[in-house]
Amino acid sequence: MAVQAVQAVQAVQEVPAVQAVPQRTVIENCSIATVDAHDSEHARGHIVVAGNRIESVGPGPAPQGLSGVVRRIDATGHLATPGLVNTHHHFYQWITRGLATDHNLFDWLVALYPTWARLDEPMVRAAAQGSLAMMARGGVTTAMDHHYVHPRGSGDLSGAIIGAARDMGVRFTLARGSMDRGEKDGGLPPDFAVETLDGALAATEATVDAHHDASFDAMTQVAVAPCSPFSVSTELMSQGAELARRKGVRLHTHGSETMEEERFCKELFGVGPTAYFESTGWLGDDVWMAHCVHMNDSDIAAFARTGTGVAHCPSSNARLAAGIARVPDMLAAGVPVGLGVDGTASNESGELHTELRNALLINRLGTRREAALNARQALRLGTYGGARVLGRADQIGSLEAGKLADLVLWKLDTLAHSSIADPVTALVFGAAAPVTLSLVDGRPVVEDNHLTTVDEEAIARVTRDEARRLARIAAGA
Ligand SMILES: [Zn+2]
Repeated sequence: MAVQAVQAVQAVQEVPAVQAVPQRTVIENCSIATVDAHDSEHARGHIVVAGNRIESVGPGPAPQGLSGVVRRIDATGHLATPGLVNTHHHFYQWITRGLATDHNLFDWLVALYPTWARLDEPMVRAAAQGSLAMMARGGVTTAMDHHYVHPRGSGDLSGAIIGAARDMGVRFTLARGSMDRGEKDGGLPPDFAVETLDGALAATEATVDAHHDASFDAMTQVAVAPCSPFSVSTELMSQGAELARRKGVRLHTHGSETMEEERFCKELFGVGPTAYFESTGWLGDDVWMAHCVHMNDSDIAAFARTGTGVAHCPSSNARLAAGIARVPDMLAAGVPVGLGVDGTASNESGELHTELRNALLINRLGTRREAALNARQALRLGTYGGARVLGRADQIGSLEAGKLADLVLWKLDTLAHSSIADPVTALVFGAAAPVTLSLVDGRPVVEDNHLTTVDEEAIARVTRDEARRLARIAAGA
């Protein structure tokens, strides 16, 4: 890729003093998959970025005579797509990867809760840096973290996570999670790992007040996110929903992940997860739920009717043998669906671009239909679908003039992909493609497959050290 710096002096002289010219980046000669409403694609096109917005996208070279151009990129051999949007993750798990590798969900949780209950602020900060770095270098421009472990005295974990995202330069949603149903109340987590109902609600509201930005180009948003039916009281579900709606923020939780969860809901509440969610105010177009594996036709219809979104996490569902979510049926019914890596204790790679491929392959296996999902649908799940699930489809998720400049240039002219003619097929079916450039809000986060905003090797060291420290503390050493 050739990158040229262009003198901006002329542009400054042409502009009236009261109106600054935005700095422009011009990208040319790449294939472009816009993922707009018509799935518009250009075999050889251009993108102009002005400030933090996309100014134009189209076939052929960029318009002539643009002022304020500070960078011109010849992206021959690349595919440009919207940046990937991750809709479900647990950053803290970066320092507990590779444990309980042959367990189902409930056994895996029971094995790991005692370790997670020992988390402190430096551990959570390091784990957030590791999770964010791995995602960003793989083309994620909007990240999210569902953080629901808040041990007493562990410090300002939300502030540490949000600070890590800000330093990385990625767009970010913190789903402020919580648990208040310990073992003594019939829940799964140990009692020492949960908050009180009032404590969880107050801390969640404080996090929204301190950090949520509702503006068009917000870099940080906050959602209300009690963890799951088996770790949260009915009061926290209901009052959490009321809190979110009073504050005008979104709601997130885990739902219908395993058969064990379904049995738990029927025993404790007398109904399955979807009916339970509906009874607590948790179906709606401001809600998105992780997994949704065990959904019957009426559950899918309820999600479609209410506009409730789904974060599909195929690798994690496979790792924990949870099952296969009915994504083709959800899409056919009109359910908003995005992709998620889930926490890296159940998906050690922590990379979202591999989820494009896994979503496609696993749903073909699940349905035994060879075209249950295609490459373009998979790309849409990981971009526009995720933006819709996060309530940000007007701002991100497709390459269109006026939207925020979150985009990725995937290098497809090397051994791994050069013999595949169709670039979207190469990206989704092929090996993980190197990221030559990732822009978030118009600013580079990745250049030539390296993070530009943080020191990747330093993060590797600190995450290793914090993982060891946590293991020592958890072992009582
Ligand atoms: Zn999860």
